[in-house]
Amino acid sequence: MQIKYTIGVDVGGTNTQLALVDIAGRIVARDYLPTTGHPDAASYVKALGAKVTGLVEANGARGQVKGIGIGAPCANAASGVIEGATNLPWPSPIPLVDLVEKATGISTVISNDANAAAVGEMTYGSARGCRNFIMLTLGTGVGAGVICDGHLLSGSRGFAGELGHIFFHFAADRSCECGRYGCLQTVASAGGVVETARRMLAADVRPSALRDIPAPELNARAIGEAADAGDRMAIEVFDFTGRCLGEACATFAAFTDPDAVILFGGVARAARFMLPAMREAIEKHALHIYRNRIKVSVSSLPDSDAAILGAASLPFINTTKS
Ligand SMILES: [Zn+2]
Repeated sequence: MQIKYTIGVDVGGTNTQLALVDIAGRIVARDYLPTTGHPDAASYVKALGAKVTGLVEANGARGQVKGIGIGAPCANAASGVIEGATNLPWPSPIPLVDLVEKATGISTVISNDANAAAVGEMTYGSARGCRNFIMLTLGTGVGAGVICDGHLLSGSRGFAGELGHIFFHFAADRSCECGRYGCLQTVASAGGVVETARRMLAADVRPSALRDIPAPELNARAIGEAADAGDRMAIEVFDFTGRCLGEACATFAAFTDPDAVILFGGVARAARFMLPAMREAIEKHALHIYRNRIKVSVSSLPDSDAAILGAASLPFINTTKS
């Protein structure tokens, strides 16, 4: 049997995307189904299994698929079970890997979306050949995938690398959705960027285009557009975000000695305003043995396909079920 493909499945709260991906990372065919509207997880998986089989048969790929990779929230990579995912419509635990394997007959692995993004970058993106890097996903939350010695750092249950929820002194007075204060996520997520802008606007009387944006419309994208247009305060918001990320990465360096930090996600669209401060902060705060060697860049995977490519790359790594 010649292995030519993997299948990536990206489970979102509203829709599930799936794609047949060749080993070079090209999406050969794709499909989707609603995640909602199924009475239970078993009937959802039945519909998903039919879609997977449809993709395989329609593209003459039977017997040529290495495996299915699923990117999903709160996925326990070790057991293949989804635990406590608040944005999925069924009660946890959901033994998704077992259900999908039974429905399709294809070997299946699962990981959370931030880990999938890191493996996707290593398999198909700019980190090809890089054996030590940290991928930070800056979106609604802050996720991280840590690649160490060529392997995805997984931990006992697959939850290693929740770097968005480390305590960070700049954020000590910011509350996080996890119920604690001071998480890095509260400054470096999309909501964190908005909170920084709100605080700067309140602390300052300088004119800024951000003052003309009605409060409900003040989001990270709008702040990014203001920065693109040259608004000084908007640029300072991202400069602050970059400085926070750099300080945090100076600490992360001590754990895995990475060659690179790669940014991904909606907030990373404003990377040009964050990277100089981020690099400066890493060099200023990292222990001397880590200085002048950590490259900071932005993911090369296209935003729209990164999640599905990340999921499709998972069968290439050594993810084992217990
Ligand atoms: Zn938190």
